[in-house]
Amino acid sequence: MLHVDTHNHLDFPAFDADRDAVLEQARAAGVGGHLIAGVEPEHWPRQRVLAAQHPGIRWTAGLHPQWAAKLTPDAIDDAIDGLPAQLDGPHAACGIGETGLDRLFADPETLPSQIHAFRAQLAIARTHDRPLVLHIVRAHGKALEILKADGVPAAGGVVHSFSGNRELAREYLTLGLHIGFAGPICRANARKLRGAAEDVPLDRLLVETDAPDQSPPGGPARNEPTTLIAVAEAVAAARGVEPDEVLRRSTRNAEALFGVFLPATEE
Ligand SMILES: [Zn+2]
Repeated sequence: MLHVDTHNHLDFPAFDADRDAVLEQARAAGVGGHLIAGVEPEHWPRQRVLAAQHPGIRWTAGLHPQWAAKLTPDAIDDAIDGLPAQLDGPHAACGIGETGLDRLFADPETLPSQIHAFRAQLAIARTHDRPLVLHIVRAHGKALEILKADGVPAAGGVVHSFSGNRELAREYLTLGLHIGFAGPICRANARKLRGAAEDVPLDRLLVETDAPDQSPPGGPARNEPTTLIAVAEAVAAARGVEPDEVLRRSTRNAEALFGVFLPATEE
């Protein structure tokens, strides 16, 4: 059975030279589906083309908080005006994101711009009832406040590369969201994250690589979808189950959220 890497950036230039080989190696390792998360408007057409070219690829359109942080409020509005059109037509985006708040990798002083972009994208996700891909780093209190006040779409969503403890995971679960785990859970000192992974119900859990970023310890310098197996192993160890069960449940959950990646005949 093939599994889904529920969050990566295979559209990034880092993969331009050997994208087909990367997809083939992933498939050989059992990873045949990919959710390519959006970061800015320039990438959206490229993501759509990849989804058209490769069965197993789906994508979301969004303005990532680190990109929103670099834009003026007018430029943010222009970018987000183009978002609903991404949800239409052949090989359309299946969700909204990445969106959220980041006070670590973006200057905390840009938080007002980030909040503006986040709330506008939340509104589109609710209006069109599409699932969210949330990027929240060192801003969980503010993000939860906004999610509670504005509301989460019925279609739900995922807190990608979750970085908190089990109590924080519960707050997102209460809002109907899924929790995604990435390479950091493979670190020897990731006790908090393993606590969260132990706790998240199996029907709300996703595994992802975030390639080309967040390679697990000992992984390739440019992270690749093949490291999904290592992430699944770390989550499985935290829960005392087999990695295959984590991969199967994560793939099923990703399809419930974002639609079918892999035709049943390929399973
Ligand atoms: Zn990402």
